[in-house]
Amino acid sequence: MMKANVTFQGGYLFKRLRIDLSTRQVRVEEIDPAEYYQFLGGRGMGALWYWREIAPDVRPLGAENKIGFFAGPMTGAPLISTTKFQCATKSPETGRYLCANSSGYFGPYLREAGFDALILEGVSPSWTAVVIENGAVRFVDDENWKGLKTVDARRRLLDGLPQGRRWATMVVGPAAENEVAFSSIMVDDGRAFGRGGAGAVLASKRVKALAVRGDHKFPVYDIEKCRALTKNAIEFLKTSRAKHRMLGTAQFIEPVNALGAMPTRNFQTTWEDPETASGVIAQTMREKYFVRNYACYRCSIACGQMTEVKEGEFAGAAARPEYESIGILGPSCGVYDMAAVIAANQACDELGMDTITAGNMLGLVMELFQRGLVSAADNDGLEVHFGDGKALVQMLHFFAERRGLGKIIGKGALGIIAERPEWEPYIMHSRGLTFAAYDPRGFHGMGLSYATSSRGACHNVGGYTVYEELLSGKVDRFSPQGKGAMVKSLQDVRAYIDSTGLCTVARGGFQLTNQPNTEVLLAITGYDFAPRLVEIGERIINLERMILKREGVDRRLDTLPPRMREPVPNGPAAGHAVTQEILDAMLDEYYQLRGWDANGLPTAETLKKFDLEFTLV
Ligand code: SF4
Repeated sequence: MMKANVTFQGGYLFKRLRIDLSTRQVRVEEIDPAEYYQFLGGRGMGALWYWREIAPDVRPLGAENKIGFFAGPMTGAPLISTTKFQCATKSPETGRYLCANSSGYFGPYLREAGFDALILEGVSPSWTAVVIENGAVRFVDDENWKGLKTVDARRRLLDGLPQGRRWATMVVGPAAENEVAFSSIMVDDGRAFGRGGAGAVLASKRVKALAVRGDHKFPVYDIEKCRALTKNAIEFLKTSRAKHRMLGTAQFIEPVNALGAMPTRNFQTTWEDPETASGVIAQTMREKYFVRNYACYRCSIACGQMTEVKEGEFAGAAARPEYESIGILGPSCGVYDMAAVIAANQACDELGMDTITAGNMLGLVMELFQRGLVSAADNDGLEVHFGDGKALVQMLHFFAERRGLGKIIGKGALGIIAERPEWEPYIMHSRGLTFAAYDPRGFHGMGLSYATSSRGACHNVGGYTVYEELLSGKVDRFSPQGKGAMVKSLQDVRAYIDSTGLCTVARGGFQLTNQPNTEVLLAITGYDFAPRLVEIGERIINLERMILKREGVDRRLDTLPPRMREPVPNGPAAGHAVTQEILDAMLDEYYQLRGWDANGLPTAETLKKFDLEFTLV
């Protein structure tokens, strides 16, 4: 790896904590500054670690898999929204590389405990909770951890720890213990590593929970500059993100449906009439269920919308529904009762499951019932039909407990297809990860995002084209033209943002764009990363692609499911489809701009350009 002629004067601790759960051995390792120069932190460092330590034949739930957590130079920094940290592991859902990010306090507090990264390997001899305080690690072994819902495990963990300064936590739920391929890790009281099944990896190591705190203050190069930048960012975000504070990401339900891009009844169509859809739009959530805003670590935006159901059959349910959870647990399941969506969101959080894949799997089960391909006899007596909010919530428990159809559904898309290939037409996924709550037939660039994302169909890692392509009205959303450039740019920016430790919602406050003109990383680290940030994003994407190449991915797997080639039957996107011709046109442009060959693999020249020749071994 190219050596940096750079000395960082803040932002990094250069320490990685490695815990071997089998032997209980704890090691503190030094991190080479040259790695930060090339990969910045967070997602970039996670990808580099994965390349070195997770071989292609590692089984996701085998003892040889490892799981790592990585902070960026801004994680925990004295700015705002510096909450993000990354997870890398082999995914039980896709069988390949997984990168995931979460907000919450755990990343910042890991840094306060003295570390930029945490690696867990091996398998604990008994169910345990790992407690990290200022570099001291201890284990709380107890077989009674098993079976606890995430909220109960967290409460029990915190009750057993010394009081005083706050702890940050990560916990898994019963779904993870039961090897549900889409189980999550819940972070603190409601944030999560949702996608890809990292929860099942943690549970396979018999780790139910982690807690961390410390009192290290990592060095910052120019604290006065940080204060000035923070003041400006708060002012800027007060206006630009006012709607996020007022309505959260749920604000997008109404426009996405109105434009015909909302998955409806398991993507059988993309639109519902506005009156029906109004049951799950942000204004309804605000008027009938809103309790208060929720903010992550140091966040002035507080986009989280804490909601509670006060009456009716879901009375007592409480959750913080985001756009994705509402879209996929609501319209995609034919459910337009926000109370049912809140209850389903809460069930996912407490049982420890990714709301997005859980919603897709509910849509699958409902469509199987609709088509008469399964019956109550296959599902422990429970019928699950589109629009049935009560069955929606019940079925989530079946998934987590592996009851009825939950036995097979818990295997995730690829596991289901291996066992029941005739169900494949009803599963919307790319490389095993199911779709977010956007139907690419309503804006085709999102199809390219899903097909090329480093972790399977993902609207974030793959490139969030929603503003630029769907909502701006400035581009032809049904054309393949220019989508390669759009998606590449969005992916590159997202890759570097995921490596900083800053929440993407707040990035505008620090001018972290596709043309970053910002002093913020200079103020933190003493080194001006700004001119190189997009290049670092590209380097990360290329490294991830080489990881995927090693795991058998090339153009043949940059695909969309067959339903995307069927025209939308009604609504504003009626008649549109992402045909193979359209997808190929987008892929050709995208590969060419990336410096990849026609098979979707980085050329030797591209690898040289990004100092990634070491991946050619
Ligand atoms: S903007 Fe929202 S997701 Fe981002 S840090 Fe703030 S509360 Fe968390």
